[in-house]
Amino acid sequence: MSALGTAETPLRVAIVGAGPSGFYAADHLLKQTDVIAQVDLFDKLPTPFGLVRNGVAPDHQKIKSVTKLFDRVARKEGFRFFGNVELGVDVTVDDLRDHYHAIMYTTGAQTDRRMGIPGEDLAGSYPATEFVAWYNGHPDYRDYEFDLTQERAAIIGVGNVAVDVARILCRTREELMETDIADYALEALSNSNIKEVYLMGRRGPAQAAFTTPEVKELGEMQGCDVFVLPEEAELDDLSKKSLAESSDRATNRKVEIIQSYVDNQPTGKDKSLTLRFLVSPTELFGDDDGKVVGMRIVRNELYATDAGTLRPRSTEHFEEMPMGLVFRSIGYRGVPLPGVPFRESWGVIWNREGRVLDPEADEVLPGEYTAGWIKRGPSGVIGTNKPDAVESVNYMLDDMRAGVLLSPTTPDAGAIEALISQRKPDYFSYADWIKLDELELANGEAQGRPRVKFTSVDEMKAALGR
Ligand code: NAP
Repeated sequence: MSALGTAETPLRVAIVGAGPSGFYAADHLLKQTDVIAQVDLFDKLPTPFGLVRNGVAPDHQKIKSVTKLFDRVARKEGFRFFGNVELGVDVTVDDLRDHYHAIMYTTGAQTDRRMGIPGEDLAGSYPATEFVAWYNGHPDYRDYEFDLTQERAAIIGVGNVAVDVARILCRTREELMETDIADYALEALSNSNIKEVYLMGRRGPAQAAFTTPEVKELGEMQGCDVFVLPEEAELDDLSKKSLAESSDRATNRKVEIIQSYVDNQPTGKDKSLTLRFLVSPTELFGDDDGKVVGMRIVRNELYATDAGTLRPRSTEHFEEMPMGLVFRSIGYRGVPLPGVPFRESWGVIWNREGRVLDPEADEVLPGEYTAGWIKRGPSGVIGTNKPDAVESVNYMLDDMRAGVLLSPTTPDAGAIEALISQRKPDYFSYADWIKLDELELANGEAQGRPRVKFTSVDEMKAALGR
């Protein structure tokens, strides 16, 4: 047999998860000049692009333009997409081992972290991850219901996801019309009764996880006034000292913007958004029907750990707030993949710099790799996943040269296609996606919107004439 990675014996790689990390990994493999690779990219959804389609806020269209790069990768020779094919259901890890020299898991982080407080699971308290997937038209979440008859909503956490949720709750219909938000979400949000929204940070303004442009954008919404309480905008001594020592310009600017909201007066806009700092919910209260009606929050103070990080600790000061809707936005979490070692405490695949590990033996599993949020946890922006995926692919290429990849029994490209056609005859190819994309864009154009998404698998099949 000729060497692996040549025209005669191309390096055949299965990538599971068609989000940014999957595409960055495919790109790096297909751009090698001295290695001929073939990439099959699998996704359980019929559509590619993962969180760029189903996570990035619909009013952030510019961020979504990264799909142009992914589209160029998908049109390269050696690339195939198998959508609507789920690992563990339609194909197993053993199937992949039989057909590929290497497997790369890039499934992201699909669930939410838990707060661990009483009342967290009352009706009306939702993980932000579900709301985000719903308003973005993710087929698995389109039938979820969120009680938008309520007037007051709290979002726990002050990361960029929390800010996305706040904007989507506070935007006017006209603003939402300019986005590719799911049709049903546009209607539900346009008719919502939401008047007051609270973003709740457990630490102070200097430690807020959201980024500067995101907090600035909150002050630019058409139908929503933004407020911050003066006593919560003021930095405590530890934060002042740490900021002065670090001369971190981005954080200084972020604090300046937050503090500028203190002077805001109501301008008669329909909605208000209040950013709260140094508070943590300790309990959600329900009514007799088990529906959330209020929350108790505790005031926090900061202390410095031995490592110098400023952490929150609760004081004796409590406050109760009536609240009809709660979104928990305290971080995403990875979910295990059947047959892949999972590090439960971290919510990631067991790995060493992207090489999947067998934790019992503390040894690398030959030919298996991971990249993105399921490798390192849910941090960073989309572009952060590029170097991360490159690192994992480079290890794969090193291992190929060292001759320690998998030894598939049936590595030819036709065999896996035949298997999938048999197991999942209604899988979606990249050519199918191109057609769906064109239709979504055309439907959007007809309504003066960037795109109108198909939000169910049946709709997608019907659109393709199946
Ligand atoms: P994140 O940035 O990690 O923020 C999580 C937030 O939850 C933090 O404010 C954190 O506070 C808070 N938190 C954690 N545990 C908590 C608890 N028990 N009680 C109260 N608060 C708690 O996560 P994310 O917002 O889900 O975003 C994930 C990643 O995607 C981030 O890297 C983010 O920047 C990125 N993203 C980017 C954009 C964009 O570029 N526009 C949009 C969306 C997401 P502490 O800091 O005190 O832990």
